[in-house]
Amino acid sequence: MAKNIVLIGPQASGKGTQAKRISGKLGVPHISTGDLLRNAPEDLKEKVDNYMNSGNLVPDELMLDILEKRLEQKDAKKGFVLDGFPRNLKQAEELMKRVSVDKIIGIKLSDETAVERISNRLSCPKCGAVFNTKTKPSKKQGVCDNCNSDLIKREDDKPESVRKRLEIYRNDTEPILEKYNADIVDGDQDIDKVSEDIFDILE
Ligand code: AMP
Repeated sequence: MAKNIVLIGPQASGKGTQAKRISGKLGVPHISTGDLLRNAPEDLKEKVDNYMNSGNLVPDELMLDILEKRLEQKDAKKGFVLDGFPRNLKQAEELMKRVSVDKIIGIKLSDETAVERISNRLSCPKCGAVFNTKTKPSKKQGVCDNCNSDLIKREDDKPESVRKRLEIYRNDTEPILEKYNADIVDGDQDIDKVSEDIFDILE
């Protein structure tokens, strides 16, 4: 089974959820560059937040430095599921120089569905759990099921940032799928069906 895996998809395509499932099944770490940036060291925090909160990408060099350190850790030597990287052709090229990638999987989703899903999304600032007021509500409204913290709308899930991120995705990220002959799954399907399709590809 493939062990060095890259998952690519627009926001709200279920990429994070699927990455966690693959990570669990294959026993390799889930590396989310969004999470790495959200937990960036104190000296980089302000710089990183400025890019992220406006929906822009952080500069490639900075991102690569942070990712490289993560890939050098021991657990990533047996494989990884990369979620959120590469975001453009340059990043894809840099990644291929550093590691061999067994599979690139693209999750397709229309802008319409992405916007609709994100507008209902609430996140836990403490443990990172994600809820959806329509499809996956928390048990108690506005409160995290796992740790009881108050849920928030992430700064980059606000409408102006969402539109900006989708535009960047279509222009810069999606071309990677064609260039590297990615396997494609339909992200509009039920979450379990998407997983099934992904595991079929990974077999
Ligand atoms: P995500 O959680 O993957 O949606 O990422 C949230 C934000 O982190 C993005 O909107 C970017 O600002 C930043 N980010 C995540 N991954 C990358 C990357 N590979 N290159 C540049 N910026 C990134």
